[in-house]
Amino acid sequence: MTKRIFRSTFFVALLVFIACLILIMGVLYGYFSGTQKAQLKMQTTLAAQGVTHEGLDYFDGLKAGDYRITWIDTDGTVLYDDHSDSVGMENHMEREEIKEAFESGYGESQRYSDTLMERSLYSAERLSDGTVLRLSTSQNSIFTLILGMAQPICMVFAIVIVLSLVLSYRLSKKIVEPLNKLNLDSPLSNDEYDEISPLLRRIDSQQKQLKRQANQLQKKQDEFTAITDNMNEGLILLNPKGTILGINTAATRLFDADNFCIGKNILTVNRNSKLQEVVFRAVAGDKAETTMEMKDRHYQIDASPIISDGAVSGAALLIFDVTERETAEQMRREFTANVSHELKTPLHSISGYAEIMKSDMVAARDIKPFAEKIYTEAQRMVQLVEDIINLSHLDEGALDLKYEQVDMYDMAKAVTDSLRDEAASAGVSMELTGDHTVTVGIPQLLRGIIYNLCDNGIKYNREGGKVNVCIKGGDAEDVITVSDTGIGISPEHQSRIFERFYRVDKSHSKEVGGTGLGLSIVKHAAKVHNAKIEITSSLGQGTQITVRFPKG
Ligand code: ADP
Repeated sequence: MTKRIFRSTFFVALLVFIACLILIMGVLYGYFSGTQKAQLKMQTTLAAQGVTHEGLDYFDGLKAGDYRITWIDTDGTVLYDDHSDSVGMENHMEREEIKEAFESGYGESQRYSDTLMERSLYSAERLSDGTVLRLSTSQNSIFTLILGMAQPICMVFAIVIVLSLVLSYRLSKKIVEPLNKLNLDSPLSNDEYDEISPLLRRIDSQQKQLKRQANQLQKKQDEFTAITDNMNEGLILLNPKGTILGINTAATRLFDADNFCIGKNILTVNRNSKLQEVVFRAVAGDKAETTMEMKDRHYQIDASPIISDGAVSGAALLIFDVTERETAEQMRREFTANVSHELKTPLHSISGYAEIMKSDMVAARDIKPFAEKIYTEAQRMVQLVEDIINLSHLDEGALDLKYEQVDMYDMAKAVTDSLRDEAASAGVSMELTGDHTVTVGIPQLLRGIIYNLCDNGIKYNREGGKVNVCIKGGDAEDVITVSDTGIGISPEHQSRIFERFYRVDKSHSKEVGGTGLGLSIVKHAAKVHNAKIEITSSLGQGTQITVRFPKG
């Protein structure tokens, strides 16, 4: 813009200068021509008076200077000419000024030389005797005049150019400077040029409109971000080329990415071929899903195409953690396999004994021990099935069971009483200590906890050993502690004994009628009551398991 203003100003200045020059030259030339003509006329009148009085004598010794004097007779012949010999001169009758003078008393004319560089002015006056006196003088043409003034004109022209350049430069800068300093953040505060006020008002209204739109967009974006960032599921929006348009916090955390991945291809975030496959299918317009393992967890990825105006404009990836589901499925699979395995063994022995008895190959005295074995195996199966039913019940949340006020001490007493025979046959003594305390809980489950802990205390004890059940009530919690002086559990097994079907010594457990599910039932029942389990045990010395029931 500065350049354009500069160029325009410069050329206008030059044009004005040239126009002024031409005008001044023209006016001056006209003025001097008029003056010269008036002088010529006056000189002609004076000379005419001289010739009228003195005749040819007037020309003796006359010094006419720049003027040429010619005296013409009434028939047009030249009587006298101060520049040439009048004898040889042609008749002047047809000359314009002569003709005019003969007719009206005075005539004038002008003629250009062949080169147009000079102009001759003629003035003729008729004398009283009818003859005509003509004076002529030469005048430079306007071109000659300009040529003659070429040097000063060139100098002035050069000065004008320099001045125009300097002034145009400063002027253009001065015009543009306020425009460059316009404060477009508040367009209406600028009052430098009235001419740009409409433009500034327009900018101001458009800025306000843009601000409104930006605010609305920001609000929508904030709402969207607030929703997506509070989702546990990962969400990624892609364009048809697989470039990330949006990613929520859960997804960035999952892929160890940051917000700088926006604008980059999904490949830069994760190169897993399963992920690429679902992205490819989604941008091709199909829904797709897959599961992937990341950071030791399982994720399901649902990829859906985004359709707008009938065409695929991108894809949305929803990533959610299915580790719990996968683990549960895995556990169910393992559980089924374990149950089948656990049931198979007693069933095989029952079937084996029954087969031998059926074939009459058993002596009468052996029938009783055989029947006892079948009974024991059947009891084991009954116990196993009962434990499985209890566990499944707990897995489903034990929703049908009701919370009641339970006196834990009374309950522990009932359990220890029911186990007294078993303890006696194992050579283990049982004692119950502590106080009466009332806990709000599900009686069946609380009984299951005490029973399984005491049962284990007896089963994994030694002849002459002890099992102590202690019930303690407090303001913050009620505590059941079952300690024994049995075989103990080594540290590496302590964290695993609560798993289903986990046994430290399988054969010993089976020998004593264990199913491997007792502590799983304890764990689940404790979980339903938000209770915490603690275990301390040392090999050969005994085990102590504490269950803490929070109050309130
Ligand atoms: P089980 O029916 O085999 O007793 P549990 O789930 O009750 O199954 O116990 C799991 C395993 O933990 C047992 O097989 C045993 O090896 C070990 N265990 C549990 N309680 C005790 C204890 N008081 N002393 C020593 N070992 C124990």
